[in-house]
Amino acid sequence: AANASESGHRIVKLAPQGEIRIQVHQSSTLKLRVLEGKVEIFGSELPPKVWITFPPLQQFAVFTWYGGTIEVDGVTETEYTSSEGPRVIIVGDIDSGKTTLAKMILSWAAKDGFKPTFVDLNVGQSSITIPGTIAATSIEMPLDPVEGFPINKALVHYFGHTTPDINLRLYKALVEELARELEVEFSDNIESRYSGMVIDTMGWTTGVGYHLLVHAIRRFNASVVIVLGQETELVNDLSKALRFKKNLQILNLEKSAGVFSRGSDFRKTLRNNNIKKYYHGATHELTVYTKTAKFRDVQVYQFPKRSRGNHDSTLEITPVKIDEQLINKVLAISYAKEPDQIISSIVAGFVCITNVDIDEERITYLSPSAAELPSKILVTGTLTWHVT
Ligand code: ADP
Repeated sequence: AANASESGHRIVKLAPQGEIRIQVHQSSTLKLRVLEGKVEIFGSELPPKVWITFPPLQQFAVFTWYGGTIEVDGVTETEYTSSEGPRVIIVGDIDSGKTTLAKMILSWAAKDGFKPTFVDLNVGQSSITIPGTIAATSIEMPLDPVEGFPINKALVHYFGHTTPDINLRLYKALVEELARELEVEFSDNIESRYSGMVIDTMGWTTGVGYHLLVHAIRRFNASVVIVLGQETELVNDLSKALRFKKNLQILNLEKSAGVFSRGSDFRKTLRNNNIKKYYHGATHELTVYTKTAKFRDVQVYQFPKRSRGNHDSTLEITPVKIDEQLINKVLAISYAKEPDQIISSIVAGFVCITNVDIDEERITYLSPSAAELPSKILVTGTLTWHVT
């Protein structure tokens, strides 16, 4: 419950993992004491029964792991109690309306003053940035109907392929990494934590695709699974596989009648369009820069692709020789300092190689920024873009 302000003498009950966030009034102090339970402020347990006085304007959160009661006396600017927000994961066939439902939930939540996190695991039709990425971004206002998801503060990892089976281990490793990063973010960002998250997934729900869904549900510790469409078997399988997972709700919703079915050609066009949007902007409002770099100023790496008949892909990263094969490849600029940090590093952005001059040992690339590359380490996969 959120309140603009409170005053006077009051008793506040906190549920397990509940929290009350307080900003003390600008011209008066606030007194507070624990009546019952173990209660802490940013990790420091408060003594039972003892009144503590907080000076004006101090901002803090009173939190309890197992529940408790506190007594508050004084005026607060803002005050709200909260617990961990729902973690909703949306699964279902391609074109069942998953991304659309995610947008609706996120925009409604933002309109109500929450700051939910959008997590995009769909490397086929990534919504935050270019295809082949696994990413998360905080939604602080209802989405712009043209621009879509905000990208500027997103945590983006590059998988480099539009289908996970090219390297399942890498896909899972990046999902795990992103989940870890969000836990860290939530551990000191109360507002994000209590706003919860919405996770969008791939339309691949059978076989390996199904296992990847279960993996994501576990890793992100989802509390609600929304299955879109008539997927009785999927609902049953998930209920069975996750029957021991605590606090998990599985909901089956009908898909919206308004959903457009998109063929695989159209899907490809959409992917290209998303890369174009990255460089040129949704309404062609951005400038794209053509830049060059000497071979010695960049290091290109790749992860192995699954070889035919071999499902055991590895995470072994190898340097890539710079030659004409890189033309039209979309490369991520990794923040990694060393190649072995690539999986655990987010990316700064993407360049598209347009020319490789072997004699001059120089590459030409498109960049959304006029600045020099923020890092030497570039990562390639199978994603290409033919400049149009
Ligand atoms: P998924 O994420 O499951 O692949 P999407 O949410 O991307 O599906 O929906 C598929 C397409 O249908 C998108 O182009 C989306 O904009 C469109 N769409 C979804 N719901 C509606 C609706 N109610 N009316 C019109 N278009 C819709």
